[in-house]
Amino acid sequence: MDRQQEFVLRTIEERDVRFVRMWFTDVVGALKSVALAPAEVEAAFEEGLGFDGSSIEGLSRVSESDMLLQPDPSTFQILPWRGETEPTARMFCNILTPDGEPSSSDPRGVLGRVLEKASDMGFTCYTAPEIEFYLLKSDQLDAEGEPVPVDHEGYFDHVPGGVVQDFRRKAVAMLEAVGISVEFSHHEAGPGQNEIDLRYADALQTADNIMTFRTVVKEVALSQGLYATFMPKPFTEHPGSGMHTHFSLFEGDTNAFFEAGAEFRLSRTARHFIAGLLRHAPEFTSITNQFVNSYKRLWGGGEAPSYLSWGHNNRSALVRVPLSKPDKVQAARVEYRGIDSATNPYLSYAVLLAAGLKGIENEYELPPAELDDIAAMSSAERRALGHNPLPSSLYDAIRETEDSEFMAELLGERVFEHFLRNKRRDWNDYRRVVTHFELKNNLGIL
Ligand code: GLU
Ligand code: MG
Ligand code: MG
Repeated sequence: MDRQQEFVLRTIEERDVRFVRMWFTDVVGALKSVALAPAEVEAAFEEGLGFDGSSIEGLSRVSESDMLLQPDPSTFQILPWRGETEPTARMFCNILTPDGEPSSSDPRGVLGRVLEKASDMGFTCYTAPEIEFYLLKSDQLDAEGEPVPVDHEGYFDHVPGGVVQDFRRKAVAMLEAVGISVEFSHHEAGPGQNEIDLRYADALQTADNIMTFRTVVKEVALSQGLYATFMPKPFTEHPGSGMHTHFSLFEGDTNAFFEAGAEFRLSRTARHFIAGLLRHAPEFTSITNQFVNSYKRLWGGGEAPSYLSWGHNNRSALVRVPLSKPDKVQAARVEYRGIDSATNPYLSYAVLLAAGLKGIENEYELPPAELDDIAAMSSAERRALGHNPLPSSLYDAIRETEDSEFMAELLGERVFEHFLRNKRRDWNDYRRVVTHFELKNNLGIL
């Protein structure tokens, strides 16, 4: 028993914790939870908790369904929304095979492997997400079949006495109560759309934080009689919900992305990292944008990126380098704007970091920064500048991933196969559906 484990057991005792939830995620990023009686926690630390992985999307085959959950004591947290008396706590878990080996189908493990590689190269990886989502009146649609937003405000709007303001205040307080630091929160451009930006943290911790964030936001919304959705594009006519993420790599205390005299104060390491993101984006977009609906966001305008490009302060670019002041060396970072709010954060951060690291390892050359609005260019101009499109649908994205050795190696055979199988099923289900668009345009044809 190590000190962190002892600390958890002591806290359970002192705070009179009634349930300890074991949290983990399936391959598409749905949070799974099993509640343990406090007396069972010690055994879970020592031997792991057995469960049937075959009933969880992407975890194991039916013929080898026994898996173990091993709680990570550093993630122990009391859940404030479950009340103060006889509280409920949670820990994130790693998934192990029955022999106690890390399971190759654990998304958290996939990210862990990439972070180990980064550490072998001398880097610690930090990430900071800007999480966008819509607040709706309920999960029911209106008579026209549309979701109903809570308000009709827009970007940075201050809504006096607004329900959304109450919501954000409560959500931010709740996030801070579970140890998640919030930097900004504001109304986004769409009606009922909000954004909450988390302070940077180690990439694994950020991915855990995102899973907690989604639960907190949904809980707070429900407590106010509202409904929160992280769906990438709930409204045709309004912007989608992205989860722009800022990346930085540190070597000890030094920000490896910063170089004082260089263009945009970007080091060679940062340039290779961006080149890695751009080179591999088509292959990993099925992960960062994993639903049929994700492509309605990428191709629906509303400041979502559709082409491979990078820029400084260019909001149409896929990768953006925010201004870093000379006295803010630690803040030098690279923002990836493609990813959406409905992704599996473990797998997404794994693929994004791995692509960047591959760029560093192989010293990929970075094309020039794009200063102009890429969406406003003609396709000939874009082609001439090398701004190739991101996949235009889930189907295209799946095809790119299927052919990618980089992705197969990075995800490992299990996750690669399970993920693709799940996504092909999504696509095939969607392909056969007759939509309102078709009825509206084709019913009267002949
Ligand atoms: N909602 C936009 C998107 O889908 C991003 C808007 C912004 O720049 O924050 O990516
Ligand atoms: Mg935003
Ligand atoms: Mg942003």
